[in-house]
Amino acid sequence: MSLLSEMLEHNKAFVESGTYERFRTGKFPEKKLAILACMDARLLELLPHALGLKNGDVKMIKNAGALVSHPWGSVMRSLVVAVYALRVREICVIAHSDCGMGTIDSMHILQEAHNRGIPTRVLNTLRMAGIDLDSWLRGFDNVDDSVRNTVELIRTHPLMPKDVPIHGVVMDPVTGAVRLLADGYKTLTKKAVKALCKEELALKTLAKEEATLQRIANNADAKQNSV
Ligand SMILES: [Zn+2]
Repeated sequence: MSLLSEMLEHNKAFVESGTYERFRTGKFPEKKLAILACMDARLLELLPHALGLKNGDVKMIKNAGALVSHPWGSVMRSLVVAVYALRVREICVIAHSDCGMGTIDSMHILQEAHNRGIPTRVLNTLRMAGIDLDSWLRGFDNVDDSVRNTVELIRTHPLMPKDVPIHGVVMDPVTGAVRLLADGYKTLTKKAVKALCKEELALKTLAKEEATLQRIANNADAKQNSV
């Protein structure tokens, strides 16, 4: 059985059994957080578990190395959309140690591309058209520097509002332990931090009130049913 048919078969059973019910959530992230993380397969489940996140909590953007390679590329666009249209109030960049982008060799990748049938003339034409394939494929030499640079790129982007804290951490891909490299609250004005805390408090109070109202409604229902 091919991987695709295996997944399609699983999917059918998943939907029919109603398993999706426990993943049901809204489109706005509960924790008002967007994460830019590396696509490393080891982080697939480890990352949310290690940070106490569940389905619906965050907007998750993933790519190789948790990098913003262009200020007007799709990663930056996703973050800007998340902030202005999807109620995101904080951003966190999550790279990890032992990342493939730390050891990537552009020469090797281009050689592999050639071995897999991409003709040399295509590579030459791209180069002659001004596409710097080596820079485009480049990762980073040092993961800590890379996270700090990415945080700065996002923080200083002309469309990023100044009241959004941008955090940066490096995760251990085995234990899930994180090292904090950039505490986004430190670069905010005191006023912005206060506003963020106030909003957080208001949300918690609202959630408590909603839970209380729900309890009262449930009790009333139970009473009515027992009459
Ligand atoms: Zn990685």
